[in-house]
Amino acid sequence: MENDIARVLVTNEELKSRIAELGAEITRDYAGKELLVLGILKGAVLFMADLVREIRLPLTFDFLAVSSYGASTSSSGVVRILKDVERSVEGVHILIAEDIVDTGLTLKYLKENLYRRHPESVKVVTLLDKPGRRKVEVVPDYNGFVIPDEFVVGFGLDFGEKYRNLPYVAVLKPSAYEV
Ligand code: 5GP
Ligand code: MG
Ligand code: MG
Repeated sequence: MENDIARVLVTNEELKSRIAELGAEITRDYAGKELLVLGILKGAVLFMADLVREIRLPLTFDFLAVSSYGASTSSSGVVRILKDVERSVEGVHILIAEDIVDTGLTLKYLKENLYRRHPESVKVVTLLDKPGRRKVEVVPDYNGFVIPDEFVVGFGLDFGEKYRNLPYVAVLKPSAYEV
């Protein structure tokens, strides 16, 4: 698996310290509020697991699953909710946790969908942001790292369901895409 890696973009140490900073910022911003952290499966799971342990507030978390790109590396623009939140979000402060914002299509759809359920607020925390590929305007409220327009894997992010367990964010060698 490590043989498929061309270049590490964000090391595990960088991830851990940035996630701690994000957690501290979120802790300050949401003090005294009812916070629901909503992770987008499956990519955000590792990021979210670390992030919630850095948020020193009472909170709840849940997960949403949306239709993904499958093994492809480009966006179809089609978003479908495959697994929904298990409770009402009315009056709650929702913080969507994403692995990466690319075209922005997924988040635009999710934010609109969630707003229709009358939450108190909807904000976004993403581990990675690729602003160069945006198709719709979505600005994450909290962002770990801005990265260049390259397809990345690791720390939750996959290619064909592989590489999610890498403890860093990396770019694959071209040979890794040949199946
Ligand atoms: P968007 O709707 O913003 O185009 O895409 C969001 C989703 O596409 C992300 O949550 C992620 O699952 C997937 N995605 C976008 N860019 C990358 C990337 O560079 N690597 C991987 N593994 N997934 C990506
Ligand atoms: Mg995602
Ligand atoms: Mg994927």
